[in-house]
Amino acid sequence: MAKIIAIANQKGGVGKTTTSINLAASMAATRRRVLLIDLDPQGNATMGSGVDKYAVERTAYDLLVDQCPAAEVIETDTSGKFHLVAANGDVTAAEIKLMEVFAREVRLRNALEPVRDQYDYIFIDCPPSLNLLTVNALAAADAVVIPMQCEYYALEGLTALMDTIGQLAQLVNPKLEIEGILRTMYDPRNRLANDVSDQLKQHFADKVYRTVIPRNVRLAEAPSFGAPAMYYDKSSAGAKAYLALAGEMLRRQESAQITSLETE
Ligand code: ADP
Ligand code: MG
Repeated sequence: MAKIIAIANQKGGVGKTTTSINLAASMAATRRRVLLIDLDPQGNATMGSGVDKYAVERTAYDLLVDQCPAAEVIETDTSGKFHLVAANGDVTAAEIKLMEVFAREVRLRNALEPVRDQYDYIFIDCPPSLNLLTVNALAAADAVVIPMQCEYYALEGLTALMDTIGQLAQLVNPKLEIEGILRTMYDPRNRLANDVSDQLKQHFADKVYRTVIPRNVRLAEAPSFGAPAMYYDKSSAGAKAYLALAGEMLRRQESAQITSLETE
């Protein structure tokens, strides 16, 4: 049964999409069965996975609004060796249409139910806002990964985001957990980044991943080749960092499973 992870932060440009693509590819490289769901009408995760957003027949819109079976919406021919639910401009309309439908917050959760046992991990790339699309992602997910840049206002934004996630979760998904906070585009020579990083660890302790994603030009270039960084330049610091993140997530999940067995 897949673990469903939403990659969310209402701020744009913090590395959500880069994390979604490269984490999906890294998990797939460890032979996990992976589905990536692009919920951002910009379709960057779609293009970055090697799928042309202008050429796709079905998108997250069909899944959410028309309740098309997931099996008919999933693309299997991506360059990252994982499966994909694509997004493009059509998904903007989904956000509006969803307002009028029954059970609008749990459309994605319901849509994933029939395919959930076919995957080990399902990642959801969220848009940079707390709209109904993001609410659908949070309602469907077991846990949230929050990518963030270690900047001056980052902690404030993070506290607000955590509060909102908590409130939403109470309404639609009480079991939702914070899987982890990921430091992205990290430059260890930047003193402010180090200060913010220290504060982050003080506040959120082991919720902060030990793996840090460095600022790395290969991660920024890879989408223009329609491939995750590990297929474009596997020796790059960016590709290695996301592989390390996948490893850290797997270890965390294994130790959580062992703990729950011990307490049963
Ligand atoms: P979001 O999805 O949160 O809006 P993106 O993943 O699209 O953020 O990243 C924003 C921009 O920063 C993109 O141009 C992306 O290529 C670039 N970027 C993301 N992570 C890194 C990184 N670790 N190093 C260098 N550039 C990055
Ligand atoms: Mg994005």
